Amino acid sequence: MGRVALVTGGSRGIGAAISSALKEAGYAVAATYAGNDEAAAKFTKETGIRTYKFDVGDYEACGAGIARIAADLGPVDVLVNNAGITRDAMFHKMTPQMWKEVIDTNLTGLFNMTHQVWGGMRDRKFGRVINISSINGQKGQAGQANYSAAKAGDLGFTKALAQEGARAGITVNAICPGYIATEMVKAIDEKVLTERIIPQIPVGRLGEPEEIARIVVFLASDEAGFITGSTVSANGGQFFV
Ligand code: NDP
Repeated sequence: MGRVALVTGGSRGIGAAISSALKEAGYAVAATYAGNDEAAAKFTKETGIRTYKFDVGDYEACGAGIARIAADLGPVDVLVNNAGITRDAMFHKMTPQMWKEVIDTNLTGLFNMTHQVWGGMRDRKFGRVINISSINGQKGQAGQANYSAAKAGDLGFTKALAQEGARAGITVNAICPGYIATEMVKAIDEKVLTERIIPQIPVGRLGEPEEIARIVVFLASDEAGFITGSTVSANGGQFFV
């Protein structure tokens, strides 16, 4: 096939599953990460997928990183904006720094990355942009005013850009995962997980990263060309829009 896919935060958690699934589907994959060199090196060793370290919150760093990826693999056809962080606190305790870090990574990161590949996608009349939002961007979550605002912003970004990309063969979609069994969620106290969180999920379990990865592979495919501006919820029935 010869298409190039770039997965931000593609070295760990949901992103690692997405990177691996895209590789399996025949893409040349680049996975980016922020600072965990050890996890990235382990991921590359296990999968053969190249990893690139830069901050999605830094526009210039994104430009330089994407230029390195294009030199190694070719221009980006599929961009998966997956990198995300949490800095949780009830609003009265949330600091401007906690707000800024989450907005910079989870919302501005989408601008910084997408803006740099958009022109090339328009020129080549093909592109796929897939944004990993969250159930908490749809319903809001106490203790996550910053995260919920950023993830809801990702959905607005998706819908606006879908309208701009449609005529150029570019689709832009979002996925809203519910609770997925990544390191972040598995680190939650076992009692809280089994007694408070899982009972809220009608299917009675956490989601697996691979369940999100399979949606990405479909949205990236030629077969999904009529789907744009959509939000795919994958939350075990926890919340319906
Ligand atoms: P993880 O914490 O497991 O992995 C996050 C990845 O993003 C890592 O590769 C990390 O790099 C990278 N990253 C973080 N900040 C930056 C940055 N500024 N620049 C570049 N890369 C960065 O996250 P998950 O797999 O749990 O989550 C992935 C996405 O899915 C996020 O957007 C998250 O909000 C969303 N999501 C997750 C849910 C869940 O239940 N897990 C539920 C709903 C949505 P490094 O390894 O260097 O730290």
